[in-house]
Amino acid sequence: MTDRSDDYALALDRASWHARNWLAGLDSRPVGPRLGIDELGATFGGPLSLDGENPADVIDELATGAEPGLMAIGSGRFFGWVMGGTLPAGLAADWLVSAWDQNAGMRTPMPATSAIEESAARWLLALLGLPSGADVGFVTGATMANFTGLAAARFSVLDRVGWDVGTQGLCGAPRIHVLVGAERHDTVDAALRYLGLGRPVAVAADAQGRIRVDALTAALDGIPGGEPIIVCLQAGNLHSGAFDPFTAAVAAAHRRNAWVHVDGAFGLWAAASPGMHFLAQGLADADSWATDAHKTLNVPYDCGVAVVRDARAMRATFGLQTSYLPSEADGPGNPFERVPELSRRARGVPVWAVLRSLGRAGVAGLVDRLCATARSLATGIDGIEGAEVLNQVVYTQVCIAFGDDRRTAAVTAALLAAGTVWMSGSRWQGRAVLRISVSNWATDDEDVRRSVEAVRTALSDVMTSEVVMSD
Ligand SMILES: *Cc1c(COP(=O)(O)O)cnc(C)c1O
Repeated sequence: MTDRSDDYALALDRASWHARNWLAGLDSRPVGPRLGIDELGATFGGPLSLDGENPADVIDELATGAEPGLMAIGSGRFFGWVMGGTLPAGLAADWLVSAWDQNAGMRTPMPATSAIEESAARWLLALLGLPSGADVGFVTGATMANFTGLAAARFSVLDRVGWDVGTQGLCGAPRIHVLVGAERHDTVDAALRYLGLGRPVAVAADAQGRIRVDALTAALDGIPGGEPIIVCLQAGNLHSGAFDPFTAAVAAAHRRNAWVHVDGAFGLWAAASPGMHFLAQGLADADSWATDAHKTLNVPYDCGVAVVRDARAMRATFGLQTSYLPSEADGPGNPFERVPELSRRARGVPVWAVLRSLGRAGVAGLVDRLCATARSLATGIDGIEGAEVLNQVVYTQVCIAFGDDRRTAAVTAALLAAGTVWMSGSRWQGRAVLRISVSNWATDDEDVRRSVEAVRTALSDVMTSEVVMSD
């Protein structure tokens, strides 16, 4: 019989070897996957054997089979959706999290991961300029961070009118008015739906997608006095990167005793940079915040952060009183009292590792570099005859059109087929757009140069084929 530690060593060595190969190849392979889901389904879809396989062989089979179907999100020329890469300290720490296999929901029985996450939480609050006494929960992503913040909001605004949603539920509860910007992220709507709050009222946005304070004030004025209100604001518009005018919007909402939640999935990080902080001005006056660590901070999936100013609202919403779990009533509470799950991996540990490896200046530098790269790409692409940058590039997002929708779609398809870059198509303000999100720490000047050239080539190929077709 083999030693159990040998089984681990063999499987981990294989995984490490495959991981290094993958990372080393990121710069030279096509950014997109070479095979589609049907081919990969055939690779992995055979019958389950009766007796199983050797763990190290399983890892070989997995890595070899997956490689042609992987998206090179870690490539410096991946600009799709809003997806960060992975910094070395974050990736390696994430491996340790799996090896340690702690149940990070409990504080005292798992003191190491709890201490690490509590420290990461304090660092995050300080970096993002949020209240030092706020409660922090490590969730799977900004969708669940929005859910967490809005769940605390639901508790709190009902509590203020004497309704305990925890015991009385929502049936027969006073109606909660939820106001959102017209260009909020769809996961805000999803979170509201999970919470039984229905469809929110959309408040008009300006040309960059920022909520209009005059429209917000008018909507607030239309709500009878004393009724519960939640206002959702946004730091970082998916298309333009724009930030809501927090100072005025939060003040307007708070005048009506509303709870203000900020979806800052990738934008909250502007607050960590002295150079970009102006975008986040006034944001710290809100009541809850959602962000991702797997986007701008470049830790591996899945890691989001929910921050709630009022720890009581957080605990009232997510706390559990049981006979078998240790109570932490006198201390900072159990981690499971700050997220909508009991058992979970210690996903705050890679956050600690990345923050520790970057330092305060490194985090600011990361944010600054992503923004500078977006500006360089915008300038380079705007200089191409026939390409037009549609947004004010204030942060990490760039939206481009190439004449009409049909041509923009054709250029997007040509670009993806060529494989040098990955930028995703979308629609913004009634137009087809090619959308760039600079979210990867690894993108450098050479990636920018190659990406601008790839766009130039794709556009020129499309225009040539248009001429051929019209001949
Ligand atoms: C990505 C994103 C979300 C959702 O985050 P997930 O990590 O995918 O759950 C929410 N809001 C904004 C603005 C985003 O960019």
